[in-house]
Amino acid sequence: MTFTPIRRSTLELIGNTPLVLLQGPSAAAGCEIYGKCEFANPGASVKDRAALWILRDAEANGTLQPGGTIVEGTAGNTGIGLALVANACGYKTIIVMPETQSREKMDTLRALGAELVLVPAAPFSNPGHFVHTSRRLAEETPGAVWANQFDNVANRKSHIESTAPEIWEQMAGRIDGFTCAAGTGGTIAGVGMGLKAFDENIVIALTDPHGAALYNYYACGELKAEGSSVAEGIGQGRITANLDGAPIDTQFRISDAEGMAWVGRLLQDEGLALGLSSGINVAGAVALGRRLVAEGRPAPRVATILCDTGFRYLSTLYNRAWLESKGLPVFPWLA
Ligand code: PMP
Repeated sequence: MTFTPIRRSTLELIGNTPLVLLQGPSAAAGCEIYGKCEFANPGASVKDRAALWILRDAEANGTLQPGGTIVEGTAGNTGIGLALVANACGYKTIIVMPETQSREKMDTLRALGAELVLVPAAPFSNPGHFVHTSRRLAEETPGAVWANQFDNVANRKSHIESTAPEIWEQMAGRIDGFTCAAGTGGTIAGVGMGLKAFDENIVIALTDPHGAALYNYYACGELKAEGSSVAEGIGQGRITANLDGAPIDTQFRISDAEGMAWVGRLLQDEGLALGLSSGINVAGAVALGRRLVAEGRPAPRVATILCDTGFRYLSTLYNRAWLESKGLPVFPWLA
């Protein structure tokens, strides 16, 4: 048995997450499917890495000074990650979010010490949109920086420098494919770039939810969305700076029903409580595994991201009334 060494700072708890062989997905794909346990980060999601790299980048370029403030427009995991790393480094956090977001999210961010600014929901073209509001707030607040997770490439750098080398080492260099969905695109682009630097034959696949425009972009060059998804944190309609130049070899489109089926199976059969983006990623990994088997790669090995904990979705994905209201199948143990 090997033990992980004592960490000298809570920030060192970010990253170095375990990689787990997923039994059901491997059986379904006919090859080994591995999940990177990003829910094991202190903020319980993959976004802790981006938050830490964005903060360190702002310190290094001098825009974030002692006692300063980090501002971001986000309702989700990025806000949680930023609030935690900011606390650990003595900075303040201001999070701007639409007032339509769930009460749980507001309570979570307040509980972590972030200052919340609520704005009415508005289209992206409206200057009152929460992303634009957060940029303006950062400009107007003395000593504040705007995290700008979509177009700040410190985000994908976190995955080039940490997630990708961890996966490569954990798999002892024997990896044939990697796939995940995109929100900002930091994870797919960064892990893709990082893994290709080790071995350019690793197939990098985008797994897109319905309602996002990237599947069509990588399939036929046109940013066009079809359908819709209730998955939080994923689904992108433009080429963000983080996605620009991402080495995407192929793409899959996965429905919420397929993703939810894996969320249910992983919980019931393997004891993993995950969010829907993880279920969609696993469905994509199974599709990629099957494709690599069909192409004749001997015993291919595929990795994907288990993005966040299911405990963040008790009132949605794990709630019977909510599932029914979205027309999604209700897990048998909730019915
Ligand atoms: N899943 C969840 C639950 C997320 O919060 C995010 C972050 N937006 C992602 C997946 C996608 O990660 P990225 O922003 O790196 O594309």
